[in-house]
Amino acid sequence: MDTISPNLPVPRAEVQLRLLSGGYLYLPMQFFVQGANPNEVRKVPSMSWLIEHESGQRVIFDLGIRKDIDAYPPAVYHRVQHIVKTEVVSDVVDGLTEINLSTSDIDTVIFSHLHYDHVGNPSTFGVKTNFVIGPGAKQLISEPSSYPQNPNSHYDARLLPIDRTTELPGSTDRDFWSQLGPFPEAHDYFKDGSLFIVNAPGHCPGHINLLVRAASKWVLLAGDTSHDIGILNGCCQTASYIDDATGDLKHAHYNPELAEKHRERVWLFGRLENVEVILAHDHSAYEGLRCRYGSCG
Ligand SMILES: [Zn+2]
Repeated sequence: MDTISPNLPVPRAEVQLRLLSGGYLYLPMQFFVQGANPNEVRKVPSMSWLIEHESGQRVIFDLGIRKDIDAYPPAVYHRVQHIVKTEVVSDVVDGLTEINLSTSDIDTVIFSHLHYDHVGNPSTFGVKTNFVIGPGAKQLISEPSSYPQNPNSHYDARLLPIDRTTELPGSTDRDFWSQLGPFPEAHDYFKDGSLFIVNAPGHCPGHINLLVRAASKWVLLAGDTSHDIGILNGCCQTASYIDDATGDLKHAHYNPELAEKHRERVWLFGRLENVEVILAHDHSAYEGLRCRYGSCG
């Protein structure tokens, strides 16, 4: 029973949650955690989640990293070759095959955001699958600012089929978004309280989280709200640094102020009873999550 979950709805339905492998990143920690050892490179997962609703609908949250990295736009390919290396032995499609599913069994893919380590390879999904992106994400993959018209862009204009892609409305649409716990903008996706999309601005345009009701608790899939559990808990801060190549001040979040506000909300939410917060790249929790959410062994 939820004794201290203020403003959360009484659960009326649940979903089944399963962790899928989205590959690994090798993160140079100095670019993510302020004051990290410049020599520390951490292998972290890029988590993908299968969500099965009692209606039979299947949703995937994030597609992880793609195996064929040379299919990324050149700017991303350069990044994964020289800055943040990747390792993908088993991708989301392999993970579905292991549980006797295929991409044609997936109704909807929801992206936490459109960074390369979360978008996988959407072209492996057929015409049955629709895609959902957060408010403001569409402009990232719109021409002419995206690749190939802009050869330096990290976002590919051909990433998603426009006729099967829905961009969620902005925060001013109060018919769509409503307050849920500490989050000012949440949307009840199945209209039964089992899956909420939570607007999570700050990391990247269109960054969203999912809050699901599974196994009698609330699980917040928090995407890239923080890149380290210590940052989420307030023990350390997101790195900012000068890019040697450009001289620009860099930060893991495009709007650090908004990202910090959302981090605080997530941290507060995670302290409630019967709530679990999962960061997409949390290496410290990964093995335990694989066992609890059905993909170990
Ligand atoms: Zn990421």
